[in-house]
Amino acid sequence: MTPEFLSLLLALLGLVLAVPMTILVWRLPRLLLQKWECERIATLKPEGEEAPPPPPFQLLSPGPHCDACHTQLRVAELIPLLSYLRLRGSCGHCEARLRRCEPLMELATALLFAATTWLLAASTLPLGYALPAALLFSWMLLAMTFIDLEHQILPDEMTLGLMAVGLLVNSFNGGLFTTTQSAIIGAAAGYFSLWLVAQSFLLLTGKEGMGYGDFKLLAAIGAWLGWQPLMIVVMLAAVSGSVVGITMLLSRHLQRDTPIPFGPYLAMAGWVCLVWDTKIQHLIRPLTHL
Ligand SMILES: [Zn+2]
Repeated sequence: MTPEFLSLLLALLGLVLAVPMTILVWRLPRLLLQKWECERIATLKPEGEEAPPPPPFQLLSPGPHCDACHTQLRVAELIPLLSYLRLRGSCGHCEARLRRCEPLMELATALLFAATTWLLAASTLPLGYALPAALLFSWMLLAMTFIDLEHQILPDEMTLGLMAVGLLVNSFNGGLFTTTQSAIIGAAAGYFSLWLVAQSFLLLTGKEGMGYGDFKLLAAIGAWLGWQPLMIVVMLAAVSGSVVGITMLLSRHLQRDTPIPFGPYLAMAGWVCLVWDTKIQHLIRPLTHL
């Protein structure tokens, strides 16, 4: 099978796996925010405030359905881009519009899966093991990106889950993407390096620059890639985050005090380092000889 054909095939898989991503990205942060709000009210017992009602869903139930008429979606409607092309993003039953971000999420997943496959096919990794693992890594990072962009949170369920899977895939046959030893050191180094940066930032400016979710996400990336590329991941994330932040400030899309989530940049940098690891090392080799 050629890399082109394989990429196309897995882009189609991306279209399908965007459906559970849409559900996860919509439900998990809302369930968590409601739970935290209930805990805050139960602890502080503020006057006149009542616990918010629970959302009308759990993480896994009900299954995918139209929010307006509650009809279970059929297979053709489940794949949002297909349903967008066929029904212009509307429910086939009541013609209510399905949520706008779904086609975007689906397109992003398909493109990400195609790119991951394309780049990994050119690597020396054992594709049979590395590709499913890398697609899972990419899927989780993309879901966290959407959640962090919308809510400025990175749920523990996802960061710590991703770290656990990273340690697992690197613990067989001496490790898939890095050695077992490097994966364990990477998880610890990822967490504490960003923690240290955040503590220094707090000391210098009196402001919180990053959240604990960012530390855990870098720990997860360290568990997948090992400790060696962590410096590149942080630099890449910081530079791209600064470029986007400054551009948005200059174009007045952003107020000076608005917090910018760092998770999406860490996720992007982690993905780049996973699929481009050897190429990145190749790129920076001339620099290390300066
Ligand atoms: Zn409907």
